[in-house]
Amino acid sequence: MPPSLTVLALFAHPDDAEFLAAGTLAHLATHGAVIHMATMTAGDCGSTILPPAKITRIRQKEAQRSANLIKASYACLQEKDLLVIYDGRTIKKVLELVRRADPDLVLTHSPVDYMVDHETTSRLCQSACFGAMAPNFKTGARRPAKAVRRVPHLYYAQPFGGRDIVGEPIPPKLCVDISTTIDLKEKMLACHESQRAWLRAQQDISQLDDPMRKMAQQAGGLCGFRWAEGFRQHLGQGFPQENLLRSLLGDLVRAVEDGMPG
Ligand SMILES: [Zn+2]
Repeated sequence: MPPSLTVLALFAHPDDAEFLAAGTLAHLATHGAVIHMATMTAGDCGSTILPPAKITRIRQKEAQRSANLIKASYACLQEKDLLVIYDGRTIKKVLELVRRADPDLVLTHSPVDYMVDHETTSRLCQSACFGAMAPNFKTGARRPAKAVRRVPHLYYAQPFGGRDIVGEPIPPKLCVDISTTIDLKEKMLACHESQRAWLRAQQDISQLDDPMRKMAQQAGGLCGFRWAEGFRQHLGQGFPQENLLRSLLGDLVRAVEDGMPG
């Protein structure tokens, strides 16, 4: 691992990173990477009982506690649930975040996902990673960070459940073995205590950790690991083509040859 490797994990809501990428983040932290975790919102709609101001305070504390477990920083961009919008104001905010972090590697949501906030976060992240190098792009921040020197390696996590909104599978291209970090991932997820009640009410999910393990098992089954997290790398024009995750984590990363099992 290079001495100053920096990783940015930008997801829409508190607990998304934990569900989708925390096992990989834990590996990277163990290897000495500087990890920044960020969410677009503080999860203001994540309660049927508490008002927005109260639940957002609780959820930001939960996210910070989770980040602390891998010695990551945590920042919230203070957008609102269901209102993560792809517009100039928000692109500037995300681009400023990317410039401040100056990451080698960025993890975010799949561009196709079950939830629009997730898809929009993915697009915002793509534009911010692409544009952070351009000195003529001004973010309007009070003390703006300098343009970065290179486009970061961008990876998309799996959509929750591995399917799009009409049930079509979205297979990952590579899997990271999280067998040695899944317990820590579970601890990070458990920091989001407020969401157990919410998910019970909203989605009939009684145990926050069960769907996480199911997803990890499904991804693992694609590449011969017991537990895994799946990703796809952004390989569009202008983005680095090297599989940095593979270079960093070696045998913990395997390519997925075929699609998702039925
Ligand atoms: Zn989410």
